[in-house]
Amino acid sequence: MRDGDAYLKEHRDEHLSQLMDLLRIPSISALSEHKPDMRRTAEWLAAEMRRIGLTRVEIMETGGNPVVYAERADNPGGPTALIYGHYDVQPVDPLDLWVTPPFEPEIRDGKLYARGASDDKGQVFMHLKVIEAMLAEEGRLPVNLKLLIEGEEEVGSENLERFIAEHRDLLKADVVVISDTALYARGVPSLTYALRGLAALEVHVTGAKGDLHSGAFGGAAPNAAQALVRLLATLHRPDGGIAVAGFYEQVRPLSQEERDAFSALGFSEEALMADLGVSALPGEPGFTALERLWARPTLEINGIFGGFQGEGTKTVIPARAGAKITCRLVPDQDPERVLDAIEAHLKANCPPGVKLEIRRMGGAPAAMTPIDHPAIRAAMQALSEAYGAEARFIRTGGSIPVVGTFGRVLGTPCVLMGFGLEEENFHAPNEHFHLENFDTGMRALYRFWHHLAETMK
Ligand SMILES: [Zn+2]
Repeated sequence: MRDGDAYLKEHRDEHLSQLMDLLRIPSISALSEHKPDMRRTAEWLAAEMRRIGLTRVEIMETGGNPVVYAERADNPGGPTALIYGHYDVQPVDPLDLWVTPPFEPEIRDGKLYARGASDDKGQVFMHLKVIEAMLAEEGRLPVNLKLLIEGEEEVGSENLERFIAEHRDLLKADVVVISDTALYARGVPSLTYALRGLAALEVHVTGAKGDLHSGAFGGAAPNAAQALVRLLATLHRPDGGIAVAGFYEQVRPLSQEERDAFSALGFSEEALMADLGVSALPGEPGFTALERLWARPTLEINGIFGGFQGEGTKTVIPARAGAKITCRLVPDQDPERVLDAIEAHLKANCPPGVKLEIRRMGGAPAAMTPIDHPAIRAAMQALSEAYGAEARFIRTGGSIPVVGTFGRVLGTPCVLMGFGLEEENFHAPNEHFHLENFDTGMRALYRFWHHLAETMK
């Protein structure tokens, strides 16, 4: 099997200078003054896609910033992968904290500094260069590829779901590959195979018709703030578990293979405590902190409001109080069923004398590609070979909405083959990309497409 190493090495300077050209375009999707830059970036990508030999390259309208689409089908009947990425970037303020300006890329200490270097222009560019290398070395691609690069990820991918739904046939693929996440740590090849979902609600408690004087009514009138905190306190057990009946019912248990893979990472709970400046890591019993962060659901009170908030004392019995609650969900929890369970619990435990109103704020299920999926196995093999170290399975406690969109709309599983590092200041001043992962990541992607062709044929 060819590996593209020589080609990528030989063209490295040229590739880096092209990437710098791409990074110089200030494609900040949140600021309308950059509208023309969004289109310029899309045009830059489309031109590059045409130049390296992709076909059907098209800038497609979405109602917002355009997406760039391209494909190449060298393997009739063979597996097809859809590469998703984004060309838009986050705003750059505060500007004075940047060592060099965000849109004047510079390499220092083996790291490329610029907005978008890692998230996500750098990683999108890696895919283009791997395609270029495969076509130069072999004249064809080992799998059929489609590319969908959008320009609104940093502003919530507002138009993407409709775009995907309207172009189902065009985007049809066996697997979606996304390079927009981070490795577990420097030098540790790792693959994210699951993300948590979300469910959100608000609880509102109302007592008397209005706020009351505690001298006149204290001792008899229901206090909305007290009722609220009593109610909220019933949501968790003293041991840290969640007390809502049925909350854990649909949770897919961690397999022994997953627990072993997590524990092999050597995650330090002491280091996390030191990082956070806390003396304990409370949570559900029976699981390590890492297992709780990645693979167990949570119920968090995000905010409490009600009563007197001003300076000094006010002898008032508040008539209203409320709280915002969100849950991180894991496979296979259904957000609606979780919200049903919480609603039933709150109604059953509401203290006397107050009215309870629950506002459901929606949610999204967790996403997971099973670790024995052929595309996951191909990615693990490619990462291990390129990095010369055994690749690790990791999850993330957060959510990437687009992964859910691909699952829901196309029914396609995602492989999250990201090459960033958490310390690379995504969304912050001095964003950078370790060039060791630019180089080794491309070597991994080159191998991945070949392994995918074998495992999914
Ligand atoms: Zn990103």
